[in-house]
Amino acid sequence: MTGIDDLPIRDELRGQSPYGAPQLDVPVRLNTNENPYPLPEALVARIAERVTEAARELNRYPDREAVELRTALAGYLSRTAGHRVGTEQVWAANGSNEVIQQLLQTFGGPGRSALGFEPSYSMHALISRGTGTRWLSGPRKADFTIDVSAARAEIAERRPHVVFICSPNNPTGTAVAADTVIALYEAAQAAGPTMVVVDEAYGEFSHQPSLLPLIEGRPHMVLTRTMSKAFGAAGLRLGYLAADPAVVDAVQLVRLPYHLSSVTQATALAALEHTDTLLGYVEQLKAERDRLVGELRAIGYRVTASDANFVQFGRFADSHLAWQAILDRGVLIRDNGVPGWLRVTAGTPAENDAFLDAAKHVHKDHGVHPEHSTEHSTEQSTTEESA
Ligand SMILES: *Cc1c(COP(=O)(O)O)cnc(C)c1O
Repeated sequence: MTGIDDLPIRDELRGQSPYGAPQLDVPVRLNTNENPYPLPEALVARIAERVTEAARELNRYPDREAVELRTALAGYLSRTAGHRVGTEQVWAANGSNEVIQQLLQTFGGPGRSALGFEPSYSMHALISRGTGTRWLSGPRKADFTIDVSAARAEIAERRPHVVFICSPNNPTGTAVAADTVIALYEAAQAAGPTMVVVDEAYGEFSHQPSLLPLIEGRPHMVLTRTMSKAFGAAGLRLGYLAADPAVVDAVQLVRLPYHLSSVTQATALAALEHTDTLLGYVEQLKAERDRLVGELRAIGYRVTASDANFVQFGRFADSHLAWQAILDRGVLIRDNGVPGWLRVTAGTPAENDAFLDAAKHVHKDHGVHPEHSTEHSTEQSTTEESA
């Protein structure tokens, strides 16, 4: 039988693993940061209407520039993210993963490098490799915030072409302060010019305002967003960016013609008509997220302060064993490979109750890492401060 290794694949892909959150059929799935609420019926009906209209013209290619959709997205950001942006500053693609891929195809590539601060979103590294961009892993502090002086030194020394800042950060939930982003942008421009990509996939869930206003006067800064999380539309595959209009012009050089189908554009437009209802679910999820943080701490876990729709908790002597023990109780969460820690997505109140019940048992059976359990109370107060 032929295996991957028998094929003439690119050298940098040899030995790599594909992105692979397990898709298991269990009663409670809290592992991929999806929104647990199905779209409201009124929106489902509106999608059917919009898609029916689009279907009548499926013999034609879609609007290559997706102008109506980009205008609606610009309107959404202008209303909710504290900064006015125009259609010419917004670009959309099939998930923010495709947006990131287009950015790396444009600004990274062979002979170039991209830097991120890990643990962070694993797709930044994977898409870098996939586009032939060398991946550079920068550090975080023990509390998972970015160490500004270490990060500046890293940028000055390694001179990456692209810097990723994930805020709130996946999988830790950590928000990045605006002055940290500004400091890293300035360091990047001194070393560069270097593109700084702020991945704000969980922006709507944060306690802090959007970092969108920072793009003003910073032509090398890009903010990316997605409809997969806050809009409850992971199945739609719609991500977008906001930046200087020149960045939008630049990604045109690599995007496939007609990359965004008419059906996708119609569906996303319908969802944007229901923004207020969908943001109402976000408020419920934020309250559930805060409840998870409080109850996990009450059980005796250490919990990283979260600005997202998920919570990182630990510590475990063996996080994979603990992950399996929770799965054995019918609850699928995520082992992101951060030693000692696991990540749970905020679900419906009933799903969260099922998870908390499992977490209580697992804490009893597995215990926290003995070396760290004594620091529990001090750690709790510092992580709360950094929220
Ligand atoms: C989920 C997620 C994305 C979203 O990807 P889509 O392709 O839009 O579904 C992007 N960045 C981060 C950090 C994420 O966690």
